[in-house]
Amino acid sequence: MNRQQEYVLRTIEERDIRFVRLWFTDLMGTLKSVAVAPAELEQAFAEGIGIDGSVIEGFTRVYEADMIVQPDADTFQVLPWRDRTARMFCDINMPDGTPASTDSRNILRRALDRAGQEGFTFYTHPEIEFYLFREPYESARGPVPVDQAGYFDHVARGDGHDFRRAAIEMLEQMGISVEFSHHEGGPGQQEIDLRYADALSMADNIMTFRTVVREVALHEKAFASFMPKPLAQQPGSGMHTHVSLFEGDSNAFYEPGASYELSQTGRRFMAGVLAHSREICAVTNQWVNSYKRLWGGGEAPAHVCWGHNNRSALARVPMYSMGKGHSRRIEVRSIDSACNPYLTYALVLASGLRGIKEAYDLPPEAEDDVWALTDAERRAMGIDPLPQSLGEAVAVMEESELVADVLGEQVFDFYLRNKWQEWGDYRSQVTQFELDRYLLHL
Ligand code: GLU
Ligand code: MG
Ligand code: MG
Repeated sequence: MNRQQEYVLRTIEERDIRFVRLWFTDLMGTLKSVAVAPAELEQAFAEGIGIDGSVIEGFTRVYEADMIVQPDADTFQVLPWRDRTARMFCDINMPDGTPASTDSRNILRRALDRAGQEGFTFYTHPEIEFYLFREPYESARGPVPVDQAGYFDHVARGDGHDFRRAAIEMLEQMGISVEFSHHEGGPGQQEIDLRYADALSMADNIMTFRTVVREVALHEKAFASFMPKPLAQQPGSGMHTHVSLFEGDSNAFYEPGASYELSQTGRRFMAGVLAHSREICAVTNQWVNSYKRLWGGGEAPAHVCWGHNNRSALARVPMYSMGKGHSRRIEVRSIDSACNPYLTYALVLASGLRGIKEAYDLPPEAEDDVWALTDAERRAMGIDPLPQSLGEAVAVMEESELVADVLGEQVFDFYLRNKWQEWGDYRSQVTQFELDRYLLHL
C-alpha cells in the first residue's frame, strides 16, 4: 500500500466513515457508483473490486462482462452532504489488470500521456452554466425557473444566491476551488467557474460538481439541469473551457510582445482546435438538444472562427489575462454542460496537439459578430458552420481519423452506434411543432 492509501484508511477510521462510494463515469458521461464497506478497501486498493460491466453503457462487449474498479486514493474525499460517507474515483481495468479501453478516465489519461511525451501538461478551467428550476417538475407546465433575473443580476434574498453560496461551500469542502460565480443570462440560470487544474483532476471535479449542484438544489427545493437548451427562448448552458499547455513551470501559450501575447505554440494549438472542431462536435456537444443551443443564439458559437473579444467565436483569447504570463490561455466556447468531460478534454487536447505537430496556420481573426454576416460572406471568409444537428455531427465524426485514434476503435464504434440510435429515435418522433403547424392545415 502506498502512503496515500494508508492516509485514506487512517482517515476512514478517524472520521468513522461507514460507506465508501467508488465512482466512475460511463461513456455518455453518467456518474456511476458502487458503495463498499471500509473493511473491503485494503483489498480494493490491492486488487480492485469486480463489477458486472455489462450494466454500464458502453463498457463491455457481452463476452467480457467482468470488469475491475480500482480506486484512486488521490481522489478520496468525505461527502459533505451525506453522513459518514466518502468517495473515490476509480479506474476501470480488465480482469487481467490492463486498463479497460472503454474507461473514460483511461481515454483521457492516454491523451495526457501523449502530451507528456511532447513535454506538455494540459490545464483546464471550465465556466459551468446550468439552470435551477422549481421542484417538482410537471411536464404539462414545463420547467419553471427559480427566478426571473438576468446576467450578473444581484437577486435580493434570491434562491440562486443562497444556492450558489451553499454549493460553493460544499465544493470547497471537497477540495474544489471556485474562482467566480454569478447569475447567467436566462431566468434561473447560474454560472460557477472552477479554478484551473490538470485536465484529469478537472474532469473528476466536473463530475463531482454536477453531483454537488444537484444535491444542493434539492436541498433548496429546486432541481438543477445541465441540459444544453432547456428553454427555447432563453440562452443555453455552455461549459466554456479555458485551456493552456505548460512546459514545466512555464506557460507554453505565453510570449511577451506577440500578438495577444500568444506564442506560436498557442496559435497552432488554437488552429488545431478550430480545424477539428466539426469532427469532435458529436462529443463536445453530444445530445440532440445540444444543437438547439449551438443554433439558438444566446452567445453560443455556431461557426468555426476565433477572436479576442468576439462572443460569437468558437475560440477566444481572453483579454483579461493579458500581462499575466502564466495565465495566457484559450477559451473553447463550443463545449456544453452535458458533455462527458473526460472524452471532451481528450479530444480538445488531441486537436490542439495535432495543430502544433503539423504546424497548422491560424486563420485570420474574425472581428465581426459572425452571426450578423450572411452565409456567402462567411464562406468568402473561410468560416465553416459547426454541424447543425446531431445527425450531421455523427456523420462528420464517422470520417475522423483523429477521433478514432483518441477514443480507440472499440469506443469509436460504440459511440457512433449509440449516437446514430439517438438520432434515429429523435427523427422518428412527431413533435408538438409539427402538430401545431400542420395538423389543422394540411
Ligand atoms: N450561455 C452561453 C452559451 O451557451 C454563454 C454565455 C457567456 O458568454 O457566458 O455558450
Ligand atoms: Mg457564462
Ligand atoms: Mg466564457
